[in-house]
Amino acid sequence: MKNLTAPRPNVNPLALPVLALAGRAILTFRNVETGSHFTAIIRQKRDKKDRKIKLPAYNVWISLLGDGETRKRYAGLIFTDQPQIRMWVSREVPANDRLAQVFRWMVGAIQNPVVLRGTPSTVDGLVHNKVALFHENKCCHCGLTLTHPESIYTGIGPVCMKNLERELAAKDIKVAEIFAPVEAI
Ligand SMILES: [Zn+2]
Repeated sequence: MKNLTAPRPNVNPLALPVLALAGRAILTFRNVETGSHFTAIIRQKRDKKDRKIKLPAYNVWISLLGDGETRKRYAGLIFTDQPQIRMWVSREVPANDRLAQVFRWMVGAIQNPVVLRGTPSTVDGLVHNKVALFHENKCCHCGLTLTHPESIYTGIGPVCMKNLERELAAKDIKVAEIFAPVEAI
């Protein structure tokens, strides 16, 4: 039987830009201070004629669990065709809706993941997360269930990670640094 109370893996918030835009990300953000949380599904679009071609655009669905609302809603699109990430909020979502606010906040966090980190604790000197980041035990790149223990800290399966490492090395992003295990709250 599945243990429903077991905490899900906590990944380093600094990995957010890589995870969120890996292709098939399902990420839960939990505000440690308020206890509120939401889950985002961020899925890369593919060419309609050739499904192998990935487009620089992602469909986003958000579930605002903190509101007692479990149904995921379509939030809009993220575009990565320019250095600065752009977003488009679905016309179905009113501008002052919490969904739109959360979506905007998340895009800001993808561009500057340091906002998820807190300040060093006066108690133990460690930097604890202000917003904890969780994956769903599914590879954020291909969507398959994660079975390798190391993937707990990355949210990416070993095969996808190998390919990703090459991509990130070209961008001078250090994999070991952004996926370093963090203190669970
Ligand atoms: Zn994968």
